[in-house]
Amino acid sequence: MVIKTVRTRYAPSPTGFMHVGNLRTALYEYLIAKSQGGTFVLRIEDTDRERYVEGAVDVIYNTLRTAGIIHDEGPDKGGDFGPYVQSERKDMYLPYAEQLVNEGKAYRCFCSKERLEKLSEGSDFGGYDRHCRDLSQQEIDEKLSAGTPYVIRQKMPLDGKTTFKDAVFGEITVDNSELQDQILIKTDGYPTYNFANVIDDHTMGITHVVRGSEYLSSTPKYNLLYDAFGWEIPTYVHLPLIMGKNEDGSVSKLSKRHGSTGFEDLVKEGYLPEAIINYIALLGWCPKDNQEVFSMKELEQSFFIEGISKSPAVFDYDKLLWFNAEYIKAMSDEQFTEHAMPYYKEVFGDSEVDFSKLTGILKQRTEKFIDIPEKIRFFAEIPEYDTDLFINKKSKTNLENSPALLKEAYERLKALREWTADAIHDCLINMALEKELKNGTVMWGVRIAAAGQKVTPGGAIEILDILGRDEALKRLEAGLAKLNA
Ligand code: GLU
Repeated sequence: MVIKTVRTRYAPSPTGFMHVGNLRTALYEYLIAKSQGGTFVLRIEDTDRERYVEGAVDVIYNTLRTAGIIHDEGPDKGGDFGPYVQSERKDMYLPYAEQLVNEGKAYRCFCSKERLEKLSEGSDFGGYDRHCRDLSQQEIDEKLSAGTPYVIRQKMPLDGKTTFKDAVFGEITVDNSELQDQILIKTDGYPTYNFANVIDDHTMGITHVVRGSEYLSSTPKYNLLYDAFGWEIPTYVHLPLIMGKNEDGSVSKLSKRHGSTGFEDLVKEGYLPEAIINYIALLGWCPKDNQEVFSMKELEQSFFIEGISKSPAVFDYDKLLWFNAEYIKAMSDEQFTEHAMPYYKEVFGDSEVDFSKLTGILKQRTEKFIDIPEKIRFFAEIPEYDTDLFINKKSKTNLENSPALLKEAYERLKALREWTADAIHDCLINMALEKELKNGTVMWGVRIAAAGQKVTPGGAIEILDILGRDEALKRLEAGLAKLNA
C-alpha cells in the first residue's frame, strides 16, 4: 500500500469576514495536516465575482497569520500545484468537462434562459427536466454551428443510490433520483463553483476535505464527479454547526445577536488570538484526556479526526473569557506589561508610574486587557465618593469608628521613614495588633480613602505603594476631612 502524504486545504471565498466557523475549519485542516506530517494548502475560491469583496483576501492572510495557522502552499507562497487562486485557474476546467462530454458522462444543454425560467415556474418539478440529455448528434451539431450558447451538465444516474462515508457523520446515502443534472460549465465557458472545487481538490492532490456540514448534501454530487473521472475520493470531514445560546436558554445558529462572530472583532474586543484558537479547537473536538489549555504546538501533536463530534457545538462566550484569563495569567510580568502598556498610557499619559507594580496587582485579575483602564483610573484621579463607603459590616467599620481609625493610620503612615510596600504593610499590621483589631478594620478605611471606590484591584498596601507617599497621604487627609465634615 502506498501511503500518501496528507494534504489538506482551506478554501475560503473572500467575503471580507472570517467567521469563527471558517476559522475552525482552517484550524482543523491545519491540525489534520500537521498532526500527520502533512501539507496545508491555502486556496482562494474567488470565482463567485458577485460575492467578491475588495481587500477580503488580506483579511484571510492577516487572520491566518495572527491565529498562527500557517499554510505551506498558497497564492503568496507558491508551490507545485498552483495557481492557488481560482480565478487564475479558470482556463483549466473546460477541458475536464469536455472529456466527460466525450465519454458520455456529461452533455451540452442548449436550453434558453426563457425555457428554464418557465420550467422552474412549473409546479412540483424542482429542477431541470433533462431536455437536452439525449439530443441526437445531428441536433447537437446544428445548434453548435448556429452558435447557440450552451452549458455543460453532468449526467446523473437516474436510479440507484450513492453512498459515502464521512469521517464525522458516518455513512450517508442519497437516492440518485434526487440529484439534478448539475451545471459544470456555464455559457461563458467558466466553471460553476461545485465543478471547480472538485477539479481543484483533485489536481492539488488533496487527501482530506474539511468543511462545514452545510456541504454534506452536495457531497454525493461531488463523488459522482470523482467517479466519472475515475479519481480517488478524498476523506471527507464535515464539521458540526456552531450554535449560540439565546436568552431563553434555547440555541440557534451562531450569529451577531449572540455576540461577535468574526475573528477580528473578537480580537478588537480584547480576546487574545491564542485564547480564541484554543477555545475554537475544542469547539467540536474532544481531546483524549481532560486537558483544556493547549498551545498550537500541543494541538498539532494531539489532534485526531476521531475526536471530532457531530453534535452541534455551542459557542460559550464565558468559556472563551475563561480561556482568555488563563492565557493572561500564564504570561510573564514583562509580557503582561507589554500588552497592557497602551492601556496604562491611556490612563497615565506620560506621568511617571511604576508599571511593574500595576502589573503585580492586575495580572491575576484581568480577563481582558481592554478592561484595564476602568480598573486603574482611580490611580490617576480619585473619583468623587460618598462617606457611606467607609461602612463595612465584615470589617466592622462604620461612620463612628472610621474617623479615628483613619486618623491614626494616617499619622503612623506619615511617620514612616521609607515608603515601600513592606514598610506600609508592617505599619498597618502593627497598628491592628497593638489596637487588637482585625486587619480588615484598619485596612478598609485606608483603602477607601486612597481609592475612592469600593472595588479595587489590589488592597490598601499595594494601592498606597503605587500612589507614592505624597499622593497617598494627600488622599488620606482628604478622606479624613470628608469624614469629619
Ligand atoms: N469556498 C467555500 C466556502 O468558503 C469552501 C467550500 C469547501 O471547503 O469545499 O464556504
